[in-house]
Amino acid sequence: MAFSMFDNPIPWPDGCRCAVAITFDMDADSILHLAFPETAHNKLMTLSMLRYDPDVAVPRLLRMFREFGLRQTFFLPAWCMERYPRTVDMILGDGHEIGHHGYLHEHPNELEPVAELYWFERALETFLRMTGQRPRGYRAPSYRFSAHSLDHLVRHGLAYDASLMGDDLPYLLQNAEGSVVELPSHYAMDDWAHYMLARELGYMMPIKAPSHAMDVFREEFNAAWQFGGLWIAVWHPMLTGRPARCSSVIDLIRTMQEKGGVWFAKLEDIAAHVRKLAADGVWRPRCDRLPYYPGPIPELAEKIK
Ligand SMILES: [Zn+2]
Repeated sequence: MAFSMFDNPIPWPDGCRCAVAITFDMDADSILHLAFPETAHNKLMTLSMLRYDPDVAVPRLLRMFREFGLRQTFFLPAWCMERYPRTVDMILGDGHEIGHHGYLHEHPNELEPVAELYWFERALETFLRMTGQRPRGYRAPSYRFSAHSLDHLVRHGLAYDASLMGDDLPYLLQNAEGSVVELPSHYAMDDWAHYMLARELGYMMPIKAPSHAMDVFREEFNAAWQFGGLWIAVWHPMLTGRPARCSSVIDLIRTMQEKGGVWFAKLEDIAAHVRKLAADGVWRPRCDRLPYYPGPIPELAEKIK
């Protein structure tokens, strides 16, 4: 029996079975400065581990993508773009996309709305200044999308978001003024849970062989391929870019390419594909209206007071 996993399967380009995006979030040392504004500069080991991002991992991953002929999406906090401009040039020079990932990796849903907007727009200014264009897409740092984040994306004309986990296929996020395409992923597709161990940042994931992580990613891919899904890896250069893990990724990409019927795409291209399908009346994405709640649910209002 051919089980139909999705209510509303999406047609991928050229009859492909699934879409694959290997996205990398290059946070570098932004997260340490954010967590320890006064002492980060003195945490040399952790700084060195995080700066492995621009110094070693990204150039390696760019070589890997070049070898496979792939163009993919990177998300960089704007502070990292300013701090590591050569990395920006290398990524864009190879034809990859860079998306908006906050200014210093601040968490939007922990900020006052006015502060969230300030950092969002400050990052946009950096983008315009350094790349000559606006980013097409956004991923909230640490997935911390707020009840107001969609308003900023719509108002500034971004095409998509890649922070949420509400579906397996692309869907729309809509507010009173417009909409963006949501390109969802989920925690099983994130390398953080598999690899992140940084005592000074409070992460103590048990060390695993890359093959364990790859089992998870591969099984997710097999399901995407079988059922027509969207496979978005949310990876970090300093984690997945280490030699043994990078080597496993090379094996995985080779397997995907040999299997065939895989649409490797930048997120901006997937978002454009979704918009075109909708405009042509070929496929209608599901739509979530945001925010889900204007505030705390009324059943708890008494308690919160
Ligand atoms: Zn990040």
